[in-house]
Amino acid sequence: SMTIEQVDPDLWRAIQGEVQRQEDHIELIASENYASPAVLQAQGTVLTNKYAEGYPGKRYYGGCKHVDIVEQLAIDRLRALFNAEYVNVQPHSGSQANAAVYLSALKPGDTLLGMSLAHGGHLTHGAPVNMSGKIFNSIAYGLDPETEEIDYTELEQLAHEHKPRMIVAGASSYARVIDWQAFRKIADNVGAYLFVDMAHYAGLIAAGYYPNPVGIADFVTSTTHKTLRGPRGGVIMAKPEHEKALNSAVFPQTQGGPLMHVIAAKAVAFKEAASPAFKDYQKQVIENARVMARVLQQRGLRIVSGHTDCHMFLVDLRAKNLTGREAETALETAHITVNKNAIPNDPQKPFVTSGVRIGTPAITTRGFKELESEQLANLVADVLEAPTNEAVLDQVAREAQALCAKFPVYGN
Ligand code: PLP
Repeated sequence: SMTIEQVDPDLWRAIQGEVQRQEDHIELIASENYASPAVLQAQGTVLTNKYAEGYPGKRYYGGCKHVDIVEQLAIDRLRALFNAEYVNVQPHSGSQANAAVYLSALKPGDTLLGMSLAHGGHLTHGAPVNMSGKIFNSIAYGLDPETEEIDYTELEQLAHEHKPRMIVAGASSYARVIDWQAFRKIADNVGAYLFVDMAHYAGLIAAGYYPNPVGIADFVTSTTHKTLRGPRGGVIMAKPEHEKALNSAVFPQTQGGPLMHVIAAKAVAFKEAASPAFKDYQKQVIENARVMARVLQQRGLRIVSGHTDCHMFLVDLRAKNLTGREAETALETAHITVNKNAIPNDPQKPFVTSGVRIGTPAITTRGFKELESEQLANLVADVLEAPTNEAVLDQVAREAQALCAKFPVYGN
């Protein structure tokens, strides 16, 4: 048998380059993490060869005896992790999971009330450029301009005014606790379904450090690769009365054969997420985010909404006369990876922005604790204060690489 290196050296070099980048850059993108070697191993198995359309025990293909066990393990573990009733582990991604929820419960033209992309919602929550914004009559709620927390009063007014068929809660760049019960009450008052997309918070929720929406919402989706630290993919959880519609919305309505190797990796990740070590990890994720936010504040930067309750926060760069794009580029040079991100009511265009999003799931996986988080936040501030000073960028890059060497991700 031949290795990738022998079959395809060009591809191999690119993969090795990425391996190196992940080792020697500090990863602060809030939606990323490092999957465990066991998760990676599961994804690299022969399960990728198997067609298994359908669900365990009810397949459209023969030879599914072993993959049925795999999928059932993933199902049972996911159920236990979030205290869910119905679960579906087949969605190829978070966006696919969300599409299946919409398709199972809504008709084209129905009204959908979701969080504005510009205020921290996800594209799939009704943004005009996404299928959810094209097919449905999508209305957006947002943040209170003073507190920069979700404006529940506005949400309630919009719900009464537009009578949505579904309200979407959940976000991609919101640092505070979302009040799922407040959403439930508003949804009940107007006869709407409540759909929670907990992709960003799922790992914290599994560990008990963020409120669990399962049991409160009619539908819950998540990605499996963010704080949950599994393979890239999606899942759906719901009240049992939605089983039939959701199963059919995933397959055959929007997907064909499930990615059995990825489902195997999800099963591994869900087992890892039920361990005491995972609980400690999530606690440290939040602690590290708090330390970083506090140090950046001390260095004169504004944190959107004042502080963080979770794994991430947004930094307002306007005090340093810097755009998100400039900050992202300067930090990248210094071996620190972030993404530019709009702040609420951002005066800049989405491709420029006035902010960066900072998240601690990845640094915490590689072993950073409070001490390293403090050092790292100071390095970030050094760059933001002198983004064009090559001596500063060189010095920060050296310190960042030294931190990386001290805390290898996968080792050599
Ligand atoms: N939902 C939320 C809240 C997200 O932040 C994301 C990804 O960033 C998604 C869904 C989409 O997930 P995927 O990229 O797997 O389609």
